[in-house]
This record gives sequence, C-alpha cells and structure tokens, in this order.
Amino acid sequence: MIPRMSASTELLSRSLSAVWHPCTQMKRHETLPLVPIARGEGVWLYDLDGKRYLDTVSSWWVNLFGHCNPRINAAITDQLGKLEHVMLAGFTHEPVVQLSERLRELAPAGLGHCFYGSDGASATEIALKMSAHYWRNSGKARKTQFLSLQNSYHGETLGALSVTDVALFRDAYGTLIRQNATVPSPDWRNATHGESAESFAHRCADALAEHLQQHHEQIAAFIVEPLIQGAAGMAMYHPAYLHHARELCLQYDVHLIADEIAVGMGRTGTLFACEQANIRPDFLLLSKGITGGYLPLSVVMTTDEIYQAFYADETARGFLHSHSYTGNPLACRAALATLDIFAQDDVLNANRAKAAFFNRIAQPLREHPKVRDFRNTGMVWAFEVDTPHADFAQRCFSLGLQHELLLRPMGNTVYFMPPYIINEEQMLMLVTRTLVIIDLLT
Ligand SMILES: *Cc1c(COP(=O)(O)O)cnc(C)c1O
Repeated sequence: MIPRMSASTELLSRSLSAVWHPCTQMKRHETLPLVPIARGEGVWLYDLDGKRYLDTVSSWWVNLFGHCNPRINAAITDQLGKLEHVMLAGFTHEPVVQLSERLRELAPAGLGHCFYGSDGASATEIALKMSAHYWRNSGKARKTQFLSLQNSYHGETLGALSVTDVALFRDAYGTLIRQNATVPSPDWRNATHGESAESFAHRCADALAEHLQQHHEQIAAFIVEPLIQGAAGMAMYHPAYLHHARELCLQYDVHLIADEIAVGMGRTGTLFACEQANIRPDFLLLSKGITGGYLPLSVVMTTDEIYQAFYADETARGFLHSHSYTGNPLACRAALATLDIFAQDDVLNANRAKAAFFNRIAQPLREHPKVRDFRNTGMVWAFEVDTPHADFAQRCFSLGLQHELLLRPMGNTVYFMPPYIINEEQMLMLVTRTLVIIDLLT
C-alpha cells in the first residue's frame, strides 16, 4: 500500500519541483527538508503540522514588529480598499508623499529627496548610478569608480556585486563584474592584541585616506555598511571610522553612500546607524525593515545638492532610472505604519532595555569555552563557535528547528537579530536552547 502523503510532505515535493529557492544548493534538499510555513504570529512561525519556530533572524533581517502585526495589517488593508498601485512617473499619491516627508524629518538633516526602488540591490544600483551621473553632470566625468570595504555586501545584481566583496556570491560572476577596489575593514576582530576598536578604526581610516589620496580623481563614491557588516558575519566596528570616512570623502570630493538596508530602522540602537557617528552621508539606503518586513520597498535618500545637479531643461540630465513598482502605495503604507509603531511604542528606548536584559542573560554564552568574540550592537548579537564540524551551519540550523528556533548561522558565526517585540521569556528560551545546541556541536 502506498502511504498517503501528509499535507506538509506534499507541499515540500511540489516546492522542490517548481520553486528554485534562493541562496541554496538545491541538491542539499535531497536530505535537508524545507520547512513549510503555514502562518506567523509575533516572533513565531508555524509550520503545516503546527510546530512553532522562534524567528531569531527576523526572516532575513526584515521583520521588526512580528509576523501578522495587527497595526501593519490594518494599514495595508485600509490602503487596499483605496489604491493598490499607480505608476509613479507623472503620478503621485498620499502614502509616498507622507513617507518621504517623514523620512526627511527622521534622517540626518539634509537628506530631503527620496527615490524609490523595490529591493535593497536596486537601492545600491540607484545610488551608484546617481553618484556617477552627478559627477558627469558636474563636469567630472572621470569619476566612475566605486570603493567599498573588504568583506562588504551591498546586494547581488551585477552592479551591486561590483561593490560586494563576499567571494561565495561573487566568484562565479567575476568575468561579468567590473572590478572595484576595496579598503581594509574596521571589523574590530582584526585589531591587534591590546588595540582598542576605536584606534583600529582610525588605523583603517588612514588606509582609506591613502587610497583616496591616490585615486580620488577616478572615484565617484565610497559605499559602506555603517557599524555592522552583516553578510560578512555581523562584523562590528567603531563609529569613529564613519566619522573619519565622512571627513575624508568631503576632502577628496567623493560621495559617501551609507547602505543602511540592514542596519537602518533602529537595528543598531539608533533609528539610523549613521547617527552614532554624527554624520550625514550623501546617500542613505533603506530597505529590509522599512516596511516592517511586509512588502518589498527600498529608498535612496539624498541631498539637495545632488538633486539640483540633475534639475535642468535637458531630459538626459535627469535621472531616468525606473522600476515598475516604484513607490508602491501598499508598501508605503506598511512603512508608515512601521514608523507609527516606532513613535507610539517608544521603540528605541524599549529596545535599549531589552538589549541590556539580553546581555545579562547571555553571560553564559559569552563565557562559554567554545564561544569567541561575543559581540552586540543594538538588537544584533553574534559570536563564533569553535566546532569540529565543517558543516556547523547546517547542523545548527537543523538542531535549531528541533528546539523551536530558526537559527541560520553564517559559517561558524551564530547571530541573533530578532524582531523588536521579542519578550524576556522568549529571550531566555533563545539563550538556554542555543547553549544546548552549542554543547551538542562542540
Ligand atoms: C540585504 C542587503 C542588501 C540587498 O538587499 P536585497 O533586498 O536582498 O536586494 C544590500 N545591502 C545590505 C547591507 C544588505 O544587508
């Protein structure tokens, strides 16, 4: 007799036959099952069999206020009854205007113009194009190169890959990508023994200074992930680097692009990470959390000076870039509802208290003999695990699921980037069970 497939087994096999999953060697799924998710509520994801998983990575760093958040749901539902979408060339609508005005209020002063895209990589592309086009419009057409940090990640379209320095994502496409230079990362794990994160940041900024001094005539922009290089394995660094980099970019007529796609929207403890260095970049990129993790939306914020360089009678001096869903009203309403929650719930202060609590209860993790470089910035925690298992990440993921945790280590770096609504009981569960998993894998 052929056993009847459960609903979940059936969905998995249909998914593997029809869906090409992202960031995945599909053959792995011969042995590693997909997790079929039926619904989400708060920090929890529920599979088809009703098993729950704590979303400790905010579903790839996008979710801020939990799954199926009633306030965001209500905003989208309201918008759905009014206008689902209209093209943004030649047309406008209240949600996109309001969102732009509110972001201008909240961002470092002087970033008054918002250009929209649909995902993070598009925001990177837009900023790179805008920067080079600005220099062309300003009579400096030789400025066409971009500079980024070692181990940087700015997305995976071809232009974004040209400023991304993660070999795994880049190597197969090397011949398709224009090579851009990188400068040393201020990741404090690379500081010499006894050197503070701050002096290391300055030492790396000196390397940036040297590079700019030699090459500034060809360089349009320097792009950075402020405070945390996420895809590099949550590499954290001192804000002094950003401060120093801001001065150097001004000195050498190079734009500073702050890619806050992952670190913006409160993740580092301030609404925008740049605030901690007290700087205003020339471009500020937001995506991921901007809609609370609901809908794809990205925004490139820039200055009046850059905007004015495109403002002219000739069409071709304008920035003609477009995406079909630019400024989608539903996504803008989700973003507005997200900003409302920040204000109504005093989220940044609440997160400070949560982070302090988490750091207290995470002491056994920090002191675990197999754990190295335990670190925290805002609502991000990360550490390396000394493990004999080459496939640690996959084992940790599978054991995580058995313990009701969605953990997705990068190599042997385990990180937590939970939704901000995580409560104390859930934080305790996260620490206790992670300790159990680490003991099983070391
Ligand atoms: C995720 C990410 C991107 C790319 O965003 P996508 O929406 O995945 O294209 C770019 N930069 C940083 C820092 C990111 O974390």
